[in-house]
Amino acid sequence: MQFSALAEVFDRLEQTNSRLEMAEILAAFFRTVEPTELRAVIYLSSGRLHPEFDPRELGMADKLALKAIASVAGCSDKKAEELWIKKGDPGTVAEQLIAKKKQMTLFSEPLTLTSVISGLTAIEGAAGRDSQDKKMKHLARMLHDATPLEARYLCRIVTGRMRLGAGTMTVLDALAAAFATKEDRPDLERAFNITCDLGLVAETVAAGGVAAVQAIPVSVANPIKVMLAERLRSLDDILLRMDGKCALEYKYDGIRVQAHITKTGVKLYSRRQEDLSPNFPDITAALQRQLRGKEAIIEGECVAYNPEDDTLLPFQNVTHRRKKHGMDQAVSDVPVKIFMFDLLLLDGVDYTMRPYPERRMTLEKAFAAAGKAPAGGYDHLDYTVRTIVDNTVAAQKFFDEAIGAKCEGVMAKSLSPESIYRAGSRGFLWIKYKKDYTQALVDSFDLTVVGAFYGMGKRAGVYGALLMAAYDTDTGRWGTTCKLGTGFDDAFLAALPGRLEHYRAESKPSAVDAEMMPDVWFEPGLVLEVTAADISISPIHTIAAGAVKEGAGLGLRFPRFTGRVRDDKSPEECTTAAEIVELYRLQEERDTDSVEAQERDADSDNETNK
Ligand code: AMP
Repeated sequence: MQFSALAEVFDRLEQTNSRLEMAEILAAFFRTVEPTELRAVIYLSSGRLHPEFDPRELGMADKLALKAIASVAGCSDKKAEELWIKKGDPGTVAEQLIAKKKQMTLFSEPLTLTSVISGLTAIEGAAGRDSQDKKMKHLARMLHDATPLEARYLCRIVTGRMRLGAGTMTVLDALAAAFATKEDRPDLERAFNITCDLGLVAETVAAGGVAAVQAIPVSVANPIKVMLAERLRSLDDILLRMDGKCALEYKYDGIRVQAHITKTGVKLYSRRQEDLSPNFPDITAALQRQLRGKEAIIEGECVAYNPEDDTLLPFQNVTHRRKKHGMDQAVSDVPVKIFMFDLLLLDGVDYTMRPYPERRMTLEKAFAAAGKAPAGGYDHLDYTVRTIVDNTVAAQKFFDEAIGAKCEGVMAKSLSPESIYRAGSRGFLWIKYKKDYTQALVDSFDLTVVGAFYGMGKRAGVYGALLMAAYDTDTGRWGTTCKLGTGFDDAFLAALPGRLEHYRAESKPSAVDAEMMPDVWFEPGLVLEVTAADISISPIHTIAAGAVKEGAGLGLRFPRFTGRVRDDKSPEECTTAAEIVELYRLQEERDTDSVEAQERDADSDNETNK
């Protein structure tokens, strides 16, 4: 297949916002593609060579791509960079500069899908000291043979900027239209949910039709989209919804993992299919050692744990295990246990379609000595604490025990014969019930005042807003995280200048990092309690600079003073940069979760409306 055919389809997709039209364009194109090529086409449309759970990435820096573009277009790096600053996308730069050059080029061979895949594979595999140079040359070689439109997409693919707008659901619609029927669409979706590999589903349906798709097995080689819980406001509502009887499990406050265990290795996937195995070497070893069978897929919650007094620690502790470096230290500093709650595969038997009571019973027999501390150490494996209830009094008692054991609440699970593991779906077979349903998304923050802005209008003559900072324990410095102007009453505002006078500074205090310029500076001293709607990446605030995004810090959105002055806290005891990063990541996980839910709701609405 010529690469130009694919580039033209990408271009057409970009020109429409209609999901229906995108599916039509894709379906017509898919019919013209060989099944083996279709797999690569699917990956390339999202700028990859592999399914998303595969951590390999092309990840070429924009500036490196610009060098390749400049060398092929015969212009200076500076010229390419100037255009990039205007356009913001190396793809557009490549298209424009190569269009100018092309009129003069005589010798070039048309790109094929195969030649592009091998060029991209070479970029991905380039290693060693001169890897950057090699990557640049591989890209330049392809650009030499590329049309301007092909150059646009080659550069977007290598720099991770493919955003065609055709999501998984649209591609599944197109696959159903091209190779099956509308009625087969749920089978395609299930195949995707149990493999997380759209390329595999596409190749299979193109080669063997829907019967082949139905035969795709649950496998240790592919992560499975996780099942999610609905929520209800009371235990009464839950029991009613569960026909009067259900299982209740402790809802642990940790990191969910899906473990794929074989004799040769163990992979732990997060709920977003990231590979977490390097972060939990102790858990992977215990799972492999204690599994009675040859292979299994199980799910559980990894929770930080204090082996000395046998207690669970809050979520923030286990997030120390999510870092990329210094894992050995984190493993010894933060002991972790996995509380297993589900079984999806055991020795070739797919349990996802079996009811929950059978899955749980089999899970409890699958591991040797889980939950029993071995001599001389604590056991890494345990099962979630559970009970069966048929009345609210018993349910409330179990809930209180869960809270007492430092859990977030309980998970109610249906015992019905239909209680299968619904991969990738949120439904009422699982219902969560938490203590903090009425609380805001994130905890409150203790921040110190480092600056003030003079008030206007009603607030003329007093400070109208404060510049607030959090503490970075690694650097011993304070970084700003919000401008606070809400939650003050008149009396507080009137007393504020007097309260702050002691800390007033001539210029920016040396221990403060700030980009925002207040009218008055203060040394860190006065600590106030603040709540916020959420945390966002901020170009102006400096706390946790670079931790989430290069060149940006983290800012609190819609901050509000709670009325509590934390006289009991020194500015060194403020909320730390690390905590803000953790809360940001937690919020991200929850947001993805709810976005996924909304997308799925929208999709099922669309399905019903069809
Ligand atoms: P939430 O993140 O609030 O939507 O709650 C769902 C999450 O609770 C799951 O993704 C798991 O990470 C976690 N969880 C904790 N304990 C359990 C349990 N016993 N069964 C299922 N999920 C659990």
